[in-house]
Amino acid sequence: MTRRDLFKTLAALPLTGIGGNAAAPHNRIETERIRLQLRHTWTTVMSSSNTRDTVYCRITSGGVTGVGEGAPIVRYKEDFASAIKAIESVRELLASADPWQFTKIMAEVFKRVKGENAGKAAIDIALMDWAGQQLKTPLYRYFGLDKNDAPVTTFSIGIDTPEITKQKTREAAEYPLLKVKVGLSTDEQTIEAIRSVTKKPLRVDVNEGWKDKEEAVRKINWLETQGVEFVEQPMPAEMIEETRWVRSKVHLPLIADEACQHAADIPKLATAFDGINVKLDKSGGLLEARRWIEIAKSLGMRTMLGCMVSSSVSVTAAAHLSPLVDYADLDGNLLIGNDPYRGVRVEKGKLILPDGPGLGLKRA
Ligand code: MG
Repeated sequence: MTRRDLFKTLAALPLTGIGGNAAAPHNRIETERIRLQLRHTWTTVMSSSNTRDTVYCRITSGGVTGVGEGAPIVRYKEDFASAIKAIESVRELLASADPWQFTKIMAEVFKRVKGENAGKAAIDIALMDWAGQQLKTPLYRYFGLDKNDAPVTTFSIGIDTPEITKQKTREAAEYPLLKVKVGLSTDEQTIEAIRSVTKKPLRVDVNEGWKDKEEAVRKINWLETQGVEFVEQPMPAEMIEETRWVRSKVHLPLIADEACQHAADIPKLATAFDGINVKLDKSGGLLEARRWIEIAKSLGMRTMLGCMVSSSVSVTAAAHLSPLVDYADLDGNLLIGNDPYRGVRVEKGKLILPDGPGLGLKRA
């Protein structure tokens, strides 16, 4: 047997039990690190940076290429290298599987890969983009949704000096809703700087920044007087008891972000929060994100779709699910200057979903 024949034979072996027959298609799997350039230095209570690395996964089968993206989350000990390693660890599975069995494939990926949900999201999005293209159907239609129900997205203002915060607020003139990052001793100054420029409704993300429950109550009740609609993750993820106490003392809805890492977290969060922020990078893709949204709704919780700093691949994928949720914070692609793709657009804040098949992406 020549080396080439041996290679072909290995490729056709039933490696996984998924699509594992002698006629198994051999799909091309590519991974790529993408360095996104931020328009402004992006600061939250967790980190500060001018670039962000995300990971693309491309799956080509039957002449059609699906593309997916994941933004590794430092808080969950992920980076681009660990995300790529996670995808590479299931390369043979992806190469030999029948991509039409995307649900079965993702179940197997979840079984084999611990954590690394950004890597899983890149795989899931690539599979769903592939399936949508094969079906010649945009993903929102595949999910049975009405694109007119897509919500207005917030535009995020990172933590900065009052002067730069004012400048960023002015630059965000076309967006009717702003999401403001807080969680430091300068929170009041930040909000006052924004309020000196605009009366728009604000949503606030504390990113676990307040460690004291009395301080959280005091700040939330002050934010209520400042035209804030809800507060995301006021206290550290593990402080569920304290957050429950805070919730009993305030009127503004509380949304869980960092506290919500797994579908199984959602029922216990329902006792301390009014809603959850679902991100494809946290859930591990579209299929699991939809499941989170359904679980939260079944518990009477509000739902939000958020994102990390990402290109239009990941943000457009999330946007296809956005007609399902109450709130959208899908601006990750608007914060960067070198987006490789065009997909979802934003008009006066409203998400405009593309009608092309799959994600409906075009090269920028
Ligand atoms: Mg958040």
